[in-house]
Amino acid sequence: MVRVRFAPSPTGIPHIGNTRTAFFNYLFAKHNKGEFILRIEDTDKKRIVKGAEEAILEILEWLGIKYDGKLIRQSDRLDLYKKYVQELLDKKIAHKKEGAVWIKVPEDKKFEWIDKVGQKKISFAGKDVDEFVILKSDGYPTYHLANIVDDHLMEITHVIRGEEWISSTPKHLYLYESFDWEPPQFAHLPVILGTDRSKLSKRHGAQSILDYREKGYLKEALLNYMAMLGWNLGSDREIFSMDELIKLFELKDVNTANPIFDVKKLEWLNGVWIRSIAEQDIK
Ligand code: GLU
Repeated sequence: MVRVRFAPSPTGIPHIGNTRTAFFNYLFAKHNKGEFILRIEDTDKKRIVKGAEEAILEILEWLGIKYDGKLIRQSDRLDLYKKYVQELLDKKIAHKKEGAVWIKVPEDKKFEWIDKVGQKKISFAGKDVDEFVILKSDGYPTYHLANIVDDHLMEITHVIRGEEWISSTPKHLYLYESFDWEPPQFAHLPVILGTDRSKLSKRHGAQSILDYREKGYLKEALLNYMAMLGWNLGSDREIFSMDELIKLFELKDVNTANPIFDVKKLEWLNGVWIRSIAEQDIK
C-alpha cells in the first residue's frame, strides 16, 4: 500500500510552497488508495514558532487535506530516536564529538537514486557529503535521524518533498544502509519561483495560506492553482476540482521545470471558481 507523509517543521505559517507539498502528497495517496500521514517535525527547538503548528492544522483542515490516523509529533518520541542513535554508536558508524553524535560518510561510498520527478538519476559521492550531526548535545535528534527513523517505522513508501532536500538524501540513504533498511522512493518537487525567476517571496504577491483565506480566496481556487504549480497533463485544460485531481494525479505528470507563481493567474482562477459556485447555487 502507498503511504506518504507531510512532515512540516513548525517554523512559520505555511505558504504556498509547503502547502503544495502537502497537497501533492495527499493527491498521490488518495489516487493510489493509500494513506497520508501528518508528522510534525519539531526537534529543532530554537526554530519553533509559536502558533505554527496550529496554523498548519488549520490550513489543512480548511483546504480539506485530511490526514489519516493520529497526528504524530516527533518531540513525543525522543526515547525512540536515542535507541537508534545508540545502535549506530555500537556499530561504530556514528561517533561522539563535543557532546553531540556525528556521522561521517565513508569517502568511497556512492549514492544513487532515480527520482520520481522526471525519472532522473541523481548521484552523490561519499566524499561530497558533509559530516553531520544525528543527536544534538541537548538530547534532541536532528532532522536527518528522526526523519528516516520515522519514515521507516511508519512504512513510508514515497517521500515527496521540495527539491531543497536533495542534498540531504545521500545522508538519508547512508542511514538506511547503516540500519539495513529499505529506503523509500524519492520525488523532489521543483521549487516555485516568482515571475522574475527568483525565489518566491512576499514581493511576488505570495502570502501565507491563511492570508489568502482572509482576503476571500476560495479554497477551490487555491487547490486548483497549487496543482498547476508543477503538475500538468500535457493538455490545455486548467480547471480541476479536488475530486478530479485525485482521479488524475500521477507523479509522472510532475514537471522538472521550476513552476512560476503568478498571482494574476490565481486571481483569474478565483474568479472562475466564484462564478462556477454561484451558478451551482442558482441551479
Ligand atoms: N521537516 C522537513 C521540512 O520542514 C521535512 C522535509 C522532508 O519532507 O523530508 O520540510
